[in-house]
Amino acid sequence: MMFKPLDINDNNENKNVEPTDVEKVKCLIVGSGPAGYTAAIYAARANLSPVMYEGLQPGGQLTTTTEVENYPGYPEGVTGPVMMEDLKKQAERFGTDVRWGMATKVDFSGDVHKVWIDDAKVIEAETVIIATGATAKYLGLEDEKKYAGGGVSACATCDGFFYRGKDVAVVGGGDTAAEEAMYLAGLCNKVYMIVRRDVLRASRVMAERVKKIPNVEILWKHQTKGLIGDNGVVEGATLVKNLGEEREEEITIKIDGFFLAIGHKPNSDIFAEYLDTDDVGYILTKPGTSKTKVPGVFACGDVQDSQYRQAVTAAGSGCMAAIDAERYLSEKHS
Ligand code: FAD
Ligand code: NAP
Repeated sequence: MMFKPLDINDNNENKNVEPTDVEKVKCLIVGSGPAGYTAAIYAARANLSPVMYEGLQPGGQLTTTTEVENYPGYPEGVTGPVMMEDLKKQAERFGTDVRWGMATKVDFSGDVHKVWIDDAKVIEAETVIIATGATAKYLGLEDEKKYAGGGVSACATCDGFFYRGKDVAVVGGGDTAAEEAMYLAGLCNKVYMIVRRDVLRASRVMAERVKKIPNVEILWKHQTKGLIGDNGVVEGATLVKNLGEEREEEITIKIDGFFLAIGHKPNSDIFAEYLDTDDVGYILTKPGTSKTKVPGVFACGDVQDSQYRQAVTAAGSGCMAAIDAERYLSEKHS
């Protein structure tokens, strides 16, 4: 089979290209986080000539963090942006064509899968690897931006270690919040759970478990008003108890870390018409594989993982997706 490469500039100059602009590729990778880049490394080394579109956040979620200490192979740790630049170089070394652009629409109804880039260009791909990640939800407070990198985090497994022996707060009352609070309780002096209602949304077993932990204090019916601290470093939080009620009162807690655990949104909206997702939007794959229900379409990383959401698990599943894509193409053309 012949694949006609199209001359694409790397700078999104294609915005005005007519939608009739069609390029055929063997393997299209959507997303440039650890999952996308690992898929690219494997796909390029398997001669699939992968084309990758980076999306609005080249390098993915890790480009928003400073130290990454739990990714194997970096004994001294590494900053997120440097690690992602390393992954990009490794993918490009084997010939991955990394491009600026966003997948805006798909049509997975045929044998060849169509993906629109910036509503302008159409990629016709024999295989598509979806690696669009998930986005942690934030409360929407200005202070979350002000103290980003200075005590505000949406990942206890990633950042909890930096708060050993300190006091922290977890916002949320679901299973994730309970899990994050339990994890932090093993590292920190004290963990406040800031819960907006008088019940936890978490499953019964998780709720009972977290309630029994001596250094976890649940602040029922509390909402966060703002964060306090000098030089962009969190030193406390202002909370409102019983918001909107007669007994409404404002309190301050002293904390060094403020962890959001109010849910994630998988970036799967444009694929949802063709693929199965769970209630939250995570793409469902066949267990033990990256295969979606559409042959030739694979999903990897956080967009299909509600459980682990780590760089290394994303990378591992990116490897699986490329191997699954290579095997699919081998079978198709044998
Ligand atoms: P992402 O990294 O989310 O990348 C998704 C990619 O898809 C992005 O490039 C985006 O631009 C692209 N994209 C989205 N939609 C489209 C579209 N329509 N078209 C084209 N591209 C699209 N994990 C750890 O293991 N260790 C840590 O220390 C750690 N620290 C973290 C700190 C922070 C602040 C955060 C937010 C997360 C942290 N994580 C950490 C979690 C880790 O970042 C994620 O598990 C990992 O990045 C998921 O990788 P991914 O490739 O699935 O997706
Ligand atoms: P979730 O179940 O949607 O819970 C989100 C929590 O955050 C709720 O307590 C919610 O409060 C609170 N919240 C949302 N917006 C808020 C806001 N603006 N201000 C304050 N609080 C806010 O999300 P999740 O905990 O991430 O879980 C997602 C799914 O994954 C669930 O199905 C869960 O069971 C599953 N999960 C399972 C496990 C496990 O089994 N080990 C672990 C993690 C996740 P309200 O309750 O008031 O709405």
